[in-house]
Amino acid sequence: MTPSSRPYAESTARDTLAVHAGRADLTELGVHAPPIDLSTTNPLGDVETGGSAYENMAGGHRPRPGDPNVYARLWNPTVARFEEAVAELEGGAAGIAFASGMAAMTATLIALTRDGRDHVVAVRPLYGGTDHLLATGLLGTRVTFARAEDVAAAITPRTALVVVETPANPTLDLVDLRALVAAAGSVPVLVDNTVATPILQRPLESGAALVFHSATKFLGGHGDALGGVVVTDEETATRIRPVRALTGGVLSPFTAYLLHRGIPTLPIRVRAQQDHATRIAAHLATHPAVRRVFHPSLPDCDAARLVGPGRQMAGPGSLLAFELTDGYEAAATAAKRVRLITHAVSLGGVDTLIEHPAAVTHRPVVGDAKPAPGILRLSVGLEDPRDLIADLEQALG
Ligand SMILES: *Cc1c(COP(=O)(O)O)cnc(C)c1O
Repeated sequence: MTPSSRPYAESTARDTLAVHAGRADLTELGVHAPPIDLSTTNPLGDVETGGSAYENMAGGHRPRPGDPNVYARLWNPTVARFEEAVAELEGGAAGIAFASGMAAMTATLIALTRDGRDHVVAVRPLYGGTDHLLATGLLGTRVTFARAEDVAAAITPRTALVVVETPANPTLDLVDLRALVAAAGSVPVLVDNTVATPILQRPLESGAALVFHSATKFLGGHGDALGGVVVTDEETATRIRPVRALTGGVLSPFTAYLLHRGIPTLPIRVRAQQDHATRIAAHLATHPAVRRVFHPSLPDCDAARLVGPGRQMAGPGSLLAFELTDGYEAAATAAKRVRLITHAVSLGGVDTLIEHPAAVTHRPVVGDAKPAPGILRLSVGLEDPRDLIADLEQALG
């Protein structure tokens, strides 16, 4: 898609971008909802046109005006709309979407760890799947797990990438991104922004080279679409797209449509869910069965003052965790007893989910990086927070 004009671009307000990004050409097309293009193959015109379009996209470039899209593993216009929307919200030049967050992480690692650079510095805690992918060396990468303050010391001439997540899963640890980017020097930093969303935090503004999302979570927001997306500069995107084309982890156009459909309500969902989470965090912090609550709205959890209007993260978000005084048994019992809340993995949807990180999402994570056995993670949704508090009370009681 090449929007002929972007009337919304006069506004930098995220709420306006969220509604209109990836949709600028709809009026010109005479439609109100983005069309879903299901073509797996496209008429090529003459042989030279087709061949040259193929070569251009196999090299990682966007189709040129007038080029055929050739084949859906190379380019799909419905997927491109979603990519454009996320890129605009993050303030980046290009989005590259995938069938899942892990497909996005895999292609990015393959694309960036080349030419004798096979080393990744990863800041723990990280999403369990990313931690496991790096720890196993499945993709031929070597990893050093480091604390944020030890990143500079962990970098070697073979380091291709620094990977960090803030706030991190499940204990909402915060990392100062500007300080981290400075410590990484010339090594690109990839920030997993799944939990913060571009509504609360835009890592490219702090100097990160790549932003990663599991679109399955807040971007889609309704628990019905699996996807991943990376936002970066056009040159880096040109390196990642051929890996997507060759390894084939492409996003389906139906799913791209659903994910794109979630974005106009992203700002309002993020703010409402964040308000609910803040109320629940304050309530749990005074609960006799709770040892500790992890949510950036609580002063203990934001010692470096990274959260608040005008700071790295504009608000605390809607993911929280809490540790029960009575440990694993109490946590397992509570997870089973919730009624309005669903005991399930994942996060960022309109309904509230609870899960036990040490036993489930972070099960493959080893050693110090493993969350404590009494910790439960809560992804707070749009239900009335009084009802959520009542359900937690009965589950903890
Ligand atoms: C879910 C998640 C991922 C992985 O994404 P999938 O879409 O499940 O492949 C990566 N990072 C974070 C923070 C996540 O929550």
